[in-house]
Amino acid sequence: MDRVILIKYGELTTKKGNRNFFINLLYNNIKKKLQKYDVNISKDRSRMYITFKNEELNDIKNIIDKIFGIHTYHIAYITESNEESIKNKVLEVLKTKTFSTFKVETKRSNKSFPINSMDMNNILGGLILKNISNVKVDVHNPEVLVKVEIRDEKTFIYLNSYAGSGGYPVGSQPKAMLMLSGGIDSPVAGYLAMKRGITLEAVYFEAIPHTSLEARDKVIKLTRKLSIYTDKINLHIVNFTKIQEAIYKNCREDYCITIMRRMMYRIMEKLLKMHNAYAIINGESIGQVASQTLTSMSVINSTTNVPVIRPVACLDKLEIMDIARKIDTYDISILPFEDCCTVFVPKHPVINPKMETAIKEENKFNYQELIEEAVNSLNTITVTSEDKAFEDLL
Ligand code: ATP
Ligand code: MG
Repeated sequence: MDRVILIKYGELTTKKGNRNFFINLLYNNIKKKLQKYDVNISKDRSRMYITFKNEELNDIKNIIDKIFGIHTYHIAYITESNEESIKNKVLEVLKTKTFSTFKVETKRSNKSFPINSMDMNNILGGLILKNISNVKVDVHNPEVLVKVEIRDEKTFIYLNSYAGSGGYPVGSQPKAMLMLSGGIDSPVAGYLAMKRGITLEAVYFEAIPHTSLEARDKVIKLTRKLSIYTDKINLHIVNFTKIQEAIYKNCREDYCITIMRRMMYRIMEKLLKMHNAYAIINGESIGQVASQTLTSMSVINSTTNVPVIRPVACLDKLEIMDIARKIDTYDISILPFEDCCTVFVPKHPVINPKMETAIKEENKFNYQELIEEAVNSLNTITVTSEDKAFEDLL
């Protein structure tokens, strides 16, 4: 085996005291994701190395592209850390490529290697010029950048570089709960939260028979897409029907959405406590709809003290849609099935709700009891990227 995937941690390396914690977590995450493959994974403080079988490389790359905590990675050739082997390998690799300009960049972490980096650049540069015709050195904008990393026993030589997903390994932060509707914004919010290392659970509010099983299936499919970035996601389905109906029966129509969202936040707070989670994540984006003006957010948010994180709060819809396409949730999100928010939309929802009015309206029914009932009848399913259940419903 003379090639490995060489992973650079990037942002992780700024975490001095916690560095080993992050590296070990990343290592375990990668190991879990690649357990089906014939690989051997090793690590040191600045790099991780994965051996692979050539025929599995594409699949492995696809998986690695979606693991948070990887800054860049390379497919590197390995050789012994001695001058002759390095020279031979560099020529062997470059002879298979077509290019007209190049630059050699040597990094010597093995200080007992007798030639310093500058001299090694010159030696290898001269060797390439002599053995490969019609090429020249371009230090500013080379077509091929030949990187040579001389480590203790082995030397790694690589030309290509792939961008990883960045972020922190999932699991480096404790749990938070994502309010996941069938729309475009909340899956993107979940993805961005996981990128910060957050362990995610998802919560979906449904109002059967006003919402359909297809709508639920859509949320399961979205959860499955998100689970690609972690190992599994618990999806909690809240039966919201009685609360919805009570709101629309008892409260002023223009305040229905405000109150509905206050109820969702109250339920979220209880679920957080039940599941040892520290924050609510949702897909609210400032100004997007009546319930997402700053005044609405403040009236809705005042039901709870737990942190509410809104990863897409300041993004344009087009920016959110770009991410949704990138993470492959967009096509699922635009399927037509309505969720409980869209079923009951009032004609003119209040844009600048008043706190006193919201409180007065919601006190027209005994919501505490209904909230308890909803929390106690939770339906939880565990979703992984592998399972195919519900797939045939589409
Ligand atoms: P999305 O595109 O994610 O549906 P949206 O722009 O349609 O968002 P709203 O329907 O006002 O916005 O909801 C704002 C946020 O509240 C959603 O992004 C989601 O996090 C949460 N939310 C709304 N409806 C539900 C639901 N039925 N179940 C769980 N979370 C919900
Ligand atoms: Mg929605």
